[in-house]
Amino acid sequence: MKKIELHWQILIGMLLGIVFGFVMTYPSWGSGFVQEWINPFGTIFVKLLKLIAIPLILASLIKGISDLKDISKFRKIGLRTIAIYIITTIIAISIGLLLVNILKPGVGISQETIAELTSTYASDAGVTSKIEEAGRQTQSGRLQFLVDMVPDNAFRAVSDNGLMLQVIFFTIFFGISMLLIGEQYAKPLKDFFDALNDVVLKMVDLIMLTAPIAVFALLANVVVSSGDPDLLLALLKYAGVVVLGLLLMIVFYSVVVYTFTRYNPFSFLSRISPAQLLAFSTSSSAATLPVTMERVEEHIGVDKEVSSFVLPVGATINMDGTSLYQGVAAVFISQALGFELTFGDQLTIILTALLASIGSAAVPGAGMVMLVIVLESIGFPPDKLAIGLALIFAVDRPLDMCRTVVNVTGDATVSMLVAKSVGKLGKPHPRHWDDHLDEVKGAKD
Ligand code: ASP
Repeated sequence: MKKIELHWQILIGMLLGIVFGFVMTYPSWGSGFVQEWINPFGTIFVKLLKLIAIPLILASLIKGISDLKDISKFRKIGLRTIAIYIITTIIAISIGLLLVNILKPGVGISQETIAELTSTYASDAGVTSKIEEAGRQTQSGRLQFLVDMVPDNAFRAVSDNGLMLQVIFFTIFFGISMLLIGEQYAKPLKDFFDALNDVVLKMVDLIMLTAPIAVFALLANVVVSSGDPDLLLALLKYAGVVVLGLLLMIVFYSVVVYTFTRYNPFSFLSRISPAQLLAFSTSSSAATLPVTMERVEEHIGVDKEVSSFVLPVGATINMDGTSLYQGVAAVFISQALGFELTFGDQLTIILTALLASIGSAAVPGAGMVMLVIVLESIGFPPDKLAIGLALIFAVDRPLDMCRTVVNVTGDATVSMLVAKSVGKLGKPHPRHWDDHLDEVKGAKD
């Protein structure tokens, strides 16, 4: 019997999870049941993905660098990656600002809705904790992000998923030093990391076998934990503008992929679709990273020399979906609360949302913390911050799921562009045991 492809399996799992979640909102015990008995399976899955993220970055980045024949290529890859990331993010924020200024979703929102949202969410722990977290982040100096990138203890760095940039820094330093001592001396280490890389990739495959069940659990939980449907409806126009912007970004990536690499955009999207579906279900680009790497390398053909650098860096600093959302949300809140924005303020939003997307952690809800900083940068009254966030809090989770898809797609797109520009975009080479349990069991790859 022909096996259903992985992305279909995941999609079916997601749909069943949504339906199950809805059904479970009816009985009084339903939501407790889902949270207690179903959600843990989703949580375990996300933990497993995070578990292998650091070993995967270590192994694949060291392999990528030590395979380089010429170190100057690495500089080229690095500079192009950062430049393209900045350009795509600015385009994303501009699309968001354009849409929110034309469609004005905040203008028609009634005073009653504002009052209701404020009373429901303004003192919610979710909102207040985001404002506090943003306060902590703004207290640091301007170059603090550079200081934070350099670890003072390699073992501490690799023991904390939140320190991904430190791990990348250490690994690049290590990999370059390996290159410099010459192949003869570095060989034992290189063999070790090559083998580690293969093992971790196999772990990704094994974990992915459980993805359809895990996404069922994750989505059922999202549905039973979501807010009052009437309030969600009131924010439909705002959410619609964000989603429209995100869809335009996907179209933009498709055009860019086709223009610069001549790759069919539909097969690009279909090949990375398991990563996109996971991004949607987990709301975390960091948790999705192992799958993004596997899809981009094996199913699209981006060489490890490029993907092992571009994707982990992208997961941490490139968040086009998040910055688009921040642009839309900042203007929406200002429109709804009657806070006038000048053209200069909108330019400030572009700049701060760009920096905010670099600073946002690749975890659920991080974009909202940085939104506080964007709002502060345009002089939004601090006493109204909680009200502003309360306005968008009800729909934040579904929008987080959508923007994470764009974040991940953006990283994959840039990895293709950079690979193409340095002659490292090859043919797909999925392993023959890939994603199939029977073959994994008997794999002799
Ligand atoms: N959840 C997003 C990510 O992981 C970040 C955010 O927008 O909150 O990419």
